[in-house]
Amino acid sequence: MGRKSKRKHKTGQSFKSNNSKYNARIDDEIIEKSLVESKPLLITERLNISPYHAEEVDDEECELQLDFRPRPYFASSLCYFCSKPCTAETSVPCDSCNMVVYCSREHHQQNVKFHKQLCTVVTEICRRNHGLDLAKNLNADEYRSFRIELLHIVQTALGRRMELWEREILLYPKLCRACHASENLEQCDKCLMEFFCKDDPVHKKQHDLYCQEYKVFQTILRTQRDNGFVAPKIPDYIFEENHELPDSFDELIKQIFDIGCDYEKIDCTTYAALSQIASPALTAFYVLRKQLKLNLNRKILKIHVIGAELQFECANLAVWEKLFMHLMPGIKNLRLEFCGPEFYVPPDIANVLQKPKLCTSCRTKGRNIDIIFHCGKLYHQVENDKPDLICLFNPGLYRTTGFANQDTWPLTIEKFCNYGVPILITSYTEVELPRDLQRIRDIREAQVECEPRRNPFASLKPERNFVSDDVAPLIYKNYFLSVVKGINSNKTERRCANPANKA
Ligand SMILES: [Zn+2]
Ligand SMILES: [Zn+2]
Ligand SMILES: [Zn+2]
Ligand SMILES: [Zn+2]
Ligand SMILES: [Zn+2]
Repeated sequence: MGRKSKRKHKTGQSFKSNNSKYNARIDDEIIEKSLVESKPLLITERLNISPYHAEEVDDEECELQLDFRPRPYFASSLCYFCSKPCTAETSVPCDSCNMVVYCSREHHQQNVKFHKQLCTVVTEICRRNHGLDLAKNLNADEYRSFRIELLHIVQTALGRRMELWEREILLYPKLCRACHASENLEQCDKCLMEFFCKDDPVHKKQHDLYCQEYKVFQTILRTQRDNGFVAPKIPDYIFEENHELPDSFDELIKQIFDIGCDYEKIDCTTYAALSQIASPALTAFYVLRKQLKLNLNRKILKIHVIGAELQFECANLAVWEKLFMHLMPGIKNLRLEFCGPEFYVPPDIANVLQKPKLCTSCRTKGRNIDIIFHCGKLYHQVENDKPDLICLFNPGLYRTTGFANQDTWPLTIEKFCNYGVPILITSYTEVELPRDLQRIRDIREAQVECEPRRNPFASLKPERNFVSDDVAPLIYKNYFLSVVKGINSNKTERRCANPANKA
C-alpha cells in the first residue's frame, strides 16, 4: 500500500484544487513531506492527538452544522457524571447500588439527586436480592434474555420508561464478558473499559481481542462529553475524472486532507465522527463506481434513502457535495430523497438542510443538489420517480417486529424491487446481511449484483452491540454491504410467462 500512495503523492496530479490558497502550498517541500509520511494514520494511531479545530468554529461563515448534543452514555468504568475513566484506586463507587462509579466525591455528590430513584430500585433488585449473581455461566442467549428481563423488572418497579443511559446500566453491567461473573474481577489497565476474571487468562484474552477498539470507544465517549459532536471541515478538493478511488477510507481522507496539512492533526474522535457522517455518501459512491461501474458522464443522478435517520444520514448533508459530487466531476444535478416512518426533520431545520451551500467551483459550474424529505412515511407510501440507486443503511430487514409492531417491510420490498434498479443494503455485522437478503428473496426474485462484503467506507465509530455481543461487543454502521436488484416481475407472473409451465 505504501508504494501505491507514494506514487500518487509524487506526481500530485491526482488532485485538482479549486482553492488558490491550497495551490500555493503544493510546493516541492510539501510533496517531499508527504513522500516521507505517506502512510495513512489509522484511528488507533490518532488516540494521542489532542482534540482538533476548537478555534475553527468562530470564523466559519455560518456553515451548517446541526448542533446535536451527544446523549449521555453509561459505561461501568467511566464517571457517571463526567465520563472520565476511573480505576479501582481512583473511583468512588455508588455505595448503595455499586453499579455506577464517579471520579471524585464531588461528582458523586453532584449526581446523588438524579441517581437516587433508580439507585433505590436497582439496589433492591440487583444487590439485596443478588439479581446480578444469577448471570454467571448463562450462555449468550440466556444472558441476553436475563438482562432484558432485569430491565423489565426494574422498569416496572420504577413505574416509568428508563432513559437510554439508564438502560445501559443493566445492559452493560460490570461483569466479566466471558462468564458474567461479578466477583474477583480485574479491570483492563489499557482501555480501562472492561472487566474480566482475575484468575482466568482465557477471559482476559477474550477481552484483548477488542481492547484497542474499546480504547477508541472510551476516548470518543469522553471527548464527546466534553466537546459535543465534532467533525473537521472537509477541504474543497475536486478530483479529476480519471482519479481512481482508493480502497480505504484512510487513504481517501489522506488524499483529501493532506495538501491542507490537516490530515495529521485530526484526532481520534473527530476522525470517527468524520467517517460516520461520510459513510452513507462514500458507500453509495463506492458501489456506484467500483461495483456497478457507473458511467462517469452521467449528468443527473437520483438516490433514494429508505429508513433514514436524521442523526445519521442527514447529520451533515454537505458531505454529498464534498465526498460525492467532488469525486464525480461530471454530475450536474444530484437528487436525494429520504424517507422513513421514524424520520422526522423539524421544519425550520429542514429549510436549512435542504439548501446545502455549495463551493464556488460547483456554483460556477451550475451544479446543484436537490434534497427531498418524506418525513414519517414508509417507502411504499411515497410517490416518486425511478431512481438510479436505492440505499438502505443498516435496515435490519430480517426483523419482523417492524415499526409500531407492524411488519411493514414486505410492501417496501415490493416497491423497491419493482424499480429494477440497484439496491444498496448495509448492516452492522457480517451475520445480518445474508438474513436481510433472504428476506428480500422470500418476497421477490432478486439478483445479487455484489455479494456481501466488508465495506471499506464503513463508519469507524464504535457502538456497543447487544444483539450479538458474544460475536462482537462493538459494532460499526455500514460495516458490511451488498447490492441486489429486483427482477422486474413478480414470481407468479414469471411462472406464467415461462412456456415450460404452460403444459
Ligand atoms: Zn467525574
Ligand atoms: Zn447507586
Ligand atoms: Zn470470567
Ligand atoms: Zn482493554
Ligand atoms: Zn463543490
